[in-house]
Amino acid sequence: MQTANKTLERHLQDLRQRNTEMLLLSETSDFLQACRTIEEACSVITTLVEPLFPDCCGRFYITCASRNRLETVAQWGNNLHSAAEFYPQDCWSLRRGRWHQLTPERSGLRCNHIAHTHQPMSTLCIPMIAQGETLGMFHLSTEKTDALNEAKRQLASTVAEQVGLAIANLNLRETLQHQSIRDSLTGLFNRRYLEEALEKEIARAQRHQSSVAVVMLDVDHFKSFNDTYGHDAGDWVLKAIAQALKDNLRAADTACRYGGEEMTLIFSENSLEEALTLAEYLRHIISQLNITYSNQRLNGLTASFGVAVFPEHGTSGAALIQSADRALYRAKAAGRNQVIAAENNPREATP
Ligand code: GH3
Ligand code: MG
Ligand code: MG
Repeated sequence: MQTANKTLERHLQDLRQRNTEMLLLSETSDFLQACRTIEEACSVITTLVEPLFPDCCGRFYITCASRNRLETVAQWGNNLHSAAEFYPQDCWSLRRGRWHQLTPERSGLRCNHIAHTHQPMSTLCIPMIAQGETLGMFHLSTEKTDALNEAKRQLASTVAEQVGLAIANLNLRETLQHQSIRDSLTGLFNRRYLEEALEKEIARAQRHQSSVAVVMLDVDHFKSFNDTYGHDAGDWVLKAIAQALKDNLRAADTACRYGGEEMTLIFSENSLEEALTLAEYLRHIISQLNITYSNQRLNGLTASFGVAVFPEHGTSGAALIQSADRALYRAKAAGRNQVIAAENNPREATP
């Protein structure tokens, strides 16, 4: 009776522990689904996953964008023997695509990212794979041999699966968001984003009684450039001009590809004079660009600029863009490669 009772009690204890683990696991899953960034997910992981594996140290690694290295994104415990960063070929679990456990008896199967120690250690590596892609690895280590038993291994596999899915979702979200607001050739924001950003800037300027400048720029004689050097060289030039804009704008400014070889910039809280100075500086930078494509030097590129500011030249996004566009047209007519301000004409301010 006594032995049977003890066995029953042990089973009951096991069941209670499973129950607690399941609750924690479902809470982790809930939190991970609500995370908006990888950083948030990491802080959830460290807080909620650690109590699932008492007596263990743990690390989560993520495969970094260049695909040839794994980097730590979350960790706990101070007896970690696994390196903070390593190459995929240094881990048996990543090479074989399945969990890999190292026990003191099988120390010959130690992964290269795990340092050699004299204390008996048990370690567990579980690859995080989602949609056929290796996204990272979950690593646990302990000096207590039974801390990584069969039940814990299963639990660790479930955790790795959940975290892997959460990371895949966050990556996808980031990619979609990037694609929906960026132009794929130049990496500048797209026209839709520009229109939304401009409305927000105008509302802010209205609240703070400040100004917003809109600059439209268009590459000069780009058609004949394409005819001479080819469309691919033209694409290369557009990328180079976009990069020059990104390199020379302040963090608060916004650069968009409005369409074709036309780009639009938003300078927040800039007067007309300040915006003209900045546009003139960018005009100069573009005219001095040294671009090489397929061993050909592509010099002599220029662009024309039209500048309009809120509220003088328009009180809506559409009106400002129209005023800047008219100024740009005048810059073209006046001989190109120059910056022209919108006219202070009330007719220009209405769409
Ligand atoms: P202007 O000085 O008056 O602006 O002359 P332009 O030749 O630049 O003007 P136009 O609007 O007649 O021609 C624009 C050219 O830009 C036509 C098109 O071949 C080229 N273009 C538009 N988008 C792209 C692009 O994505 N890549 C390349 N390579 N060329 C493009
Ligand atoms: Mg054009
Ligand atoms: Mg042009």
